[in-house]
This record gives sequence, C-alpha cells and structure tokens, in this order.
Amino acid sequence: MQIHQIGGLGFDSNIYLIIDKTITLIDAGTGVNFKMIEQNLGKFNLKPSDVELLINTHCHYDHVGGNRDFVTVGCKVAVHELEADLLRKGDQVVTLAGGFGKRLDPIEVERELRDGDRIKLGELTLQVLHTPGHTLGSISLYEPKELLLFSGDTIFRDGVGRTDLPTSEAAALRRSIYRLAKLNVRKLYPGHGPFAEEGANKFISRIVRTVYP
Ligand SMILES: [Zn+2]
Ligand SMILES: [Zn+2]
Repeated sequence: MQIHQIGGLGFDSNIYLIIDKTITLIDAGTGVNFKMIEQNLGKFNLKPSDVELLINTHCHYDHVGGNRDFVTVGCKVAVHELEADLLRKGDQVVTLAGGFGKRLDPIEVERELRDGDRIKLGELTLQVLHTPGHTLGSISLYEPKELLLFSGDTIFRDGVGRTDLPTSEAAALRRSIYRLAKLNVRKLYPGHGPFAEEGANKFISRIVRTVYP
C-alpha cells in the first residue's frame, strides 16, 4: 500500500492517490490541472481509467471540479449522503462553483457515505467520520491500523477550515475537531497545505489549544 500526493496546484485541493487493491483518489481538485495529475499518475504506471474509486471529503468545487475527468473513464464517486444530491444536480452555490468562476456539471454519485461506514480498499480500511462544520456533509477518513487521517477542509496541519460558507457551522466544526482530537493519528493528510507523516497528534492538539482555548 502506498499514499502519494499527486495534486494541489493553484486553487486545487490536495489530491491523494492510494495504491492498494482498489486504486483510490481522495478528492480531485478543480480539474484545471488534470494534465499534471495525469502525468503524476503516470509516474506510478497508472492512467486515469485505473482509478476505481474517488472519495470526495466534501462538495466544494476545489475538491470535486475534477471528478468528471475520472467519472467519464469509469471511476465511481463516493461522498457523504448529505452532499450527494448537490453533485448529482450540479449545484452552483453550496459547491462554490460560482465563486471559482466555474460551472459544476451534474456528477454521478455511486456511493452515499454515512458516519461509521467502512470502505475496504485492500490493506487499508477507511472509516468514515461525519465531521460537519466546514460544510454540512464534510467527512474525514480514518485508518486505525496505519493511524492515518484524511481530514479534508475540517482540519489542516496548522489550522481549521472556514465556517463562513454555505452550510458552514462554527459550533459543529468545534465538535468535529474535538472528535478528531480523540483519535490516535500519526499521519495527517489534509485538504490543503502540507501533510504530516509523523507526529500528527501533536499538530492536532496544538490546534485545539490555540483555536479553541
Ligand atoms: Zn478546499
Ligand atoms: Zn472546502
């Protein structure tokens, strides 16, 4: 099993490639830098059509704009149940597509996720944690054997997600961060900025101390 960051340029979210029995992406960026993502996949002898599963941490355009490039070559999309219809209908407001000066075309969603779901990829089994606050249907993905956490825009290495956006709620984000702070996390893979492959617990507890003293 390997995890690589293969995108995150400009306005793109970080894009994580998980090479396991099921080839998986966590988020897809805006789609603007697809050629670069395709090249980065090529470094691992993979093509976009080899990606079987794309999990969106939430519905924002900087995470889902690139979905289409993978869906059109057979990839299945999974997102929290509260945000699935926003993607299916091509919502422009809650997804912030308009804010990015783009239009979100309707995207098929194969799997609607709920808190407590387990996504078995092979060596890794991701646990779905519903962590609302940045958006209503934001999720984090925890792997208890490897102690790794994909945290979307809920928590970053050095801060927390915005709560001034459609369906954001500051009190919910606080509860979500406290929930994440209870986990034993070694590796943190957030939706933006640097990731941490050691000592993630320290980063998370520092954020709790500084943002929610
Ligand atoms: Zn984002
Ligand atoms: Zn976001």
